[in-house]
Amino acid sequence: MPTVEQIREALKVVIDPELRHNIVDLGMVRSIETPVDGRVDVVVSLTTPGCPIRSHFQKGVTEAIRGLGGVEQVNVGFDVLSSQEKSGLQQRLGRQDGLPTGALAAVRNVICVGSGKGGVGKSTVTSNLAAALFAEGKQVAAMDADVWGYSIPRMLGVHGRPTVSPQRRILPLVAHGGLKAISIEFFLDHEDQAITWRGPMLHKAIRQFLEDVEWGELDYLLIDLPPGTGDVSMTLAQLLPQARFVIVTTPQPAAQKVAARAADTAKRFDLEIAGVIENMSGFVTPSGERFTIFGEGGGQELADQLDVPLLGKIPLQEELRVGADEGTPLVISDPDAPASQAIIHAARGLIAATPQQIPTLQPELKPAPPAPPAPVTGTALPMAH
Ligand code: ADP
Repeated sequence: MPTVEQIREALKVVIDPELRHNIVDLGMVRSIETPVDGRVDVVVSLTTPGCPIRSHFQKGVTEAIRGLGGVEQVNVGFDVLSSQEKSGLQQRLGRQDGLPTGALAAVRNVICVGSGKGGVGKSTVTSNLAAALFAEGKQVAAMDADVWGYSIPRMLGVHGRPTVSPQRRILPLVAHGGLKAISIEFFLDHEDQAITWRGPMLHKAIRQFLEDVEWGELDYLLIDLPPGTGDVSMTLAQLLPQARFVIVTTPQPAAQKVAARAADTAKRFDLEIAGVIENMSGFVTPSGERFTIFGEGGGQELADQLDVPLLGKIPLQEELRVGADEGTPLVISDPDAPASQAIIHAARGLIAATPQQIPTLQPELKPAPPAPPAPVTGTALPMAH
């Protein structure tokens, strides 16, 4: 059974999408009862009685507490902050580093690339898809949210430490003549540093990626999610209600089943799934013989099941792996290679399936009142000066 303190800690992943802070720090968690017989009672205080995002909190709180294990039932009650509490909240918000809102306002599409499990080629697909979209004339950035298994820097061949603009915003590194990249690697002093990071630290880093980075105008921000469906997906889902998912799977029925679970999470958070990409779809020998090493048909089945398009079937190709290891996506070094062609096809499908205009902001993302630029000192990430 988790302790009240553990529950409080876990609730830090629940974000108020309007105030853009977690409900614990906002003082919106009114009470947490000591768990009895697998049952946890929590009361959340809302800013207004008819709060439309009530169900968002209901879902978020339940998920966060269930994730602790040993909990069978979560009861979420609601009340309303008194006017005194509300002004306290306002003061606290005013004092906190004003989050630069609208950092993503010039981003047309946020695409989260997810998979049910690791090793299906999610990062390889993300980096090549980014390169393919860029080759199609789009403005693209790739961001690593896979803190424990980041691979964007290696695959795009970009390393170093970002600088900070005079407005105190983090400038992404640039690969291959214009592809922007932000990864946790750019902020670590040594490779193993992130391994010790736990939920809140992770949460803070991702928030900072999304909000303090000078993304500029982008057609696509691709986010390489960690495999599975953990805290990170949840954090992102709450920060980015307009994001779409692309699910990567291998052709095996087993892989397809775990990928479906990732899709379920996306759906639970009302995130639209733009399509499925099947990777490792057969291997063709130089003499033209095709071997279906990881089976056949899983991508199409998953796409049918989710009622979304199958954006592409990427064959196994050694050069794709070599390119990823050496830092030049195959799509750039050999766009005519079969794997490149499949990825370019997927990129075009994605372009067809996503708006090419700046979306009107959804209510959850409406810009907050003008905030001062984010002070970069005292935050999670070290910077170059
Ligand atoms: P994930 O991000 O899902 O954990 P990676 O993208 O790191 O997976 O891929 C795992 C390994 O498989 C990497 O070495 C990658 O280069 C290789 N790989 C991925 N897709 C293919 C493919 N279609 N053909 C050959 N190698 C591939």
